[in-house]
Amino acid sequence: MVVEDVPGPRPGPTEVLIDVAAAGVCGTELHFLDGLLTPARTPITLGHEVAGVVAEVGDGVEDVAVGDRVAVHYRHACHRCRSCQAGNDHLCDAPLGFLAFASDGGFAEQVVVPASAVVRVPDGLDLAVAATLCCSGTTALHAVGVAGVRAGADAVVYGTGGVGLALVQVLREAGARPIAVARDPQRLRLARELGAEVTVDGSGDVEAPIREATGGAGADVVFELVGTRETSAAALASLGKRGTLVYVGYSFDTVEISPLSLVVPEQRIVTSVGNRRSELVEALDLGARGLLRTTVDEHFLDDAPRVLDELRAGRIVGRAVLRP
Ligand SMILES: [Zn+2]
Ligand SMILES: [Zn+2]
Repeated sequence: MVVEDVPGPRPGPTEVLIDVAAAGVCGTELHFLDGLLTPARTPITLGHEVAGVVAEVGDGVEDVAVGDRVAVHYRHACHRCRSCQAGNDHLCDAPLGFLAFASDGGFAEQVVVPASAVVRVPDGLDLAVAATLCCSGTTALHAVGVAGVRAGADAVVYGTGGVGLALVQVLREAGARPIAVARDPQRLRLARELGAEVTVDGSGDVEAPIREATGGAGADVVFELVGTRETSAAALASLGKRGTLVYVGYSFDTVEISPLSLVVPEQRIVTSVGNRRSELVEALDLGARGLLRTTVDEHFLDDAPRVLDELRAGRIVGRAVLRP
């Protein structure tokens, strides 16, 4: 990864040019740099959590105006394909663009996106916080929806990066009982402040404390945000009867599963990827009402390589953002 000067992007018809205020730094960035994910083209500008101010609008743009404070939905859905018609625009079959995966993202001074991909940021909500909600908050909302979490459910959040800390809050709002697992004591403290009822040190035995916290029954839901062989095994072992394991995180690891061990307690494994545009609207609203808080760690764009190293080393607490 390098930081360099490139020609400024220009908005075409139905597109908008945004002066980036902040772009969140996500674990997904590390997956790109490590080769676990491959962008559709290279070189590409990373950064799929972007908020800023509209600087220019292309021909035919009517609903967005210069000066609007906006956040960007990373997957620029066509709103016409089979997935979009079914309400699953996050799985759009023919996206107009896909920030940092197929089109240039927000680790830049400016970015061009389709006008249909932007969402207005409510007054009073800081743009750096709005940027982080584009991925961490929205991913959390989507995952809780996928899992179908009920009030009173014992819900484990396995990993407390940006998505994990957002999950704790969304679960608390849903009336569930969040149990956070992490290795870092500082993050566990933050998880507790944000609503985790129980915190478990992930460097030791995870199953026993979760069984203890759930009266021996095991968890109703485990959100797996790490996705390694080791964490998958611990997550499955912590799951109760009819429990649901939700994969949100992943790694290079593969995981072996014995169907028998799932069938007998009638457990489910489901997955959750990204979020719908409507979930970004909801996350921004929750953020503006103070129900979804983010600890933002601000850096300058030029420091991107160092910030990514810190993220990899687990030294970022909350969500780092890059400001141009
Ligand atoms: Zn992300
Ligand atoms: Zn579509």
